[in-house]
Amino acid sequence: MSSLFPALTDGRTDRPALRFGDRSLTYAELAAAADALAHRLAGHARVAVWATPALETAVAVVAALRAGVAAVPLNPKSGEKELGHILADSAPALLLAAPGDELPSAVRDLPRVDVDVRATGPAPEAPEASDDDPALVVYTSGTTGPPKGAVIPRRAVATTLDALADAWQWTGDDVLVHGLPLFHVHGLVLGILGPLRRGGSVRHLGRFSTEGVTRELDAGATMLFGVPTMYHRIAETLPGDPALAKALSRARLLVSGSAALPVHDHERITSATGQRVIERYGMTETLMNTSVRADGEPRPGTVGVPLPGVELRLVEEDGTPITSYDGETVGEIQVRGPNLFTGYLNRPDATATAFTADGWFRTGDMAVRDLDGYVRIVGRKATDLIKSGGYKIGAGEIENALLEHPGVREAAVTGEPDPDLGERIVAWIVPADPASPPTVEELADHVASRLAPHKRPRVVHHLAALPRNDMGKIMKRALNRD
Ligand code: ATP
Ligand code: MG
Repeated sequence: MSSLFPALTDGRTDRPALRFGDRSLTYAELAAAADALAHRLAGHARVAVWATPALETAVAVVAALRAGVAAVPLNPKSGEKELGHILADSAPALLLAAPGDELPSAVRDLPRVDVDVRATGPAPEAPEASDDDPALVVYTSGTTGPPKGAVIPRRAVATTLDALADAWQWTGDDVLVHGLPLFHVHGLVLGILGPLRRGGSVRHLGRFSTEGVTRELDAGATMLFGVPTMYHRIAETLPGDPALAKALSRARLLVSGSAALPVHDHERITSATGQRVIERYGMTETLMNTSVRADGEPRPGTVGVPLPGVELRLVEEDGTPITSYDGETVGEIQVRGPNLFTGYLNRPDATATAFTADGWFRTGDMAVRDLDGYVRIVGRKATDLIKSGGYKIGAGEIENALLEHPGVREAAVTGEPDPDLGERIVAWIVPADPASPPTVEELADHVASRLAPHKRPRVVHHLAALPRNDMGKIMKRALNRD
């Protein structure tokens, strides 16, 4: 097997690799199935993978990597329009799916290959792929615009996973509880390729549930990867579920990413379980950039420090790098390192504008750094930075403050034009009790007393739910359009 997964060839053959529900594969079985499939993929540039949360998806991606062919994971829940866009853009030669999968018309024209997870075949004699070769083309989450196809080289996959292993003391003895979809970096690269690179194992829940988390941690799993909406569900469930609290308290590592973990949820989990949640920050384009380290000081509301090999700087609007860490000066995060993508597929212009002349990638995320270098994300440049009354205000800290109000279940903050202030702060909340939602005065006082008067919301909208995408990310574009 290629050097991305030494454990597939190093003789640890009977060790469990993957389990989805009651179906599982050992390393030997996974290697045989992937090799059998790899023969059918060799020679193509890209193949699409119908990325349901199933063994077939993992086998398909490992086979593509084995054959040196870039895998394009597709979200089976995408609408026809989005699928059509991704297929036209990525032009895959084949579609890999599980035998029973029913496919929508947008993908039916592609030659289909059914993945047989019990097949066996000899290792293909493909030339060893180089570090520069594309491993994956992953489409961004589409939070701020139409998804873009990020071409991710093998080097980036290997280095990001090894950097995380260093930060998290992640070994082949770890068993991961996984409840994330497999068509983004979080669920696929970290959640599937990560354990396989370490020689550890994965137990996928199919669909996330707190019962599933309890069951797997009780059965000996050591790590949980989740997005903030999952940790929110855990925080809400913990008071009435001592079995969940006990199971979580036994875990070696709880990791959150893909969006900001509200401080309030983090603190509730810590007080009920004694565990901190390790927050890491990454993007489709960069894989992982920063993380709180397993041996580092926990600090809710921060995403930790740059991972080994990642250069990170904050840059002011005029392009000047910020040289001192003061916990206050907001700048755009720019990164450089072997973890980066090579460009957006078919988008030379977008690729060119994403990089500075000296090769730094502009993340579009805004942050401050604490005195000791911990990175604190305040939000996205495009949607989360509100310019009000001469101040630049990050939506994130206001959202965190609102979530500490007992009358608020979920919160999102945006700016809207205001004749006096430039922009005024608007809060979109899901009230804890829809029959008596907190008033704008109450929330304004609450925020002003916690943060500063100029950070108080001037307008409050009540919603039954916030618009979120399949990773639980709040779609602020949809809010502003209302
Ligand atoms: P698109 O680029 O299509 O608009 P997207 O940026 O949401 O969508 P992803 O690449 O999946 O697509 O997500 C990366 C973004 O997620 C980061 O730029 C950042 O804004 C956010 N993010 C990831 N991890 C964290 C975190 N721990 N805290 C805050 N934000 C995070
Ligand atoms: Mg993005």
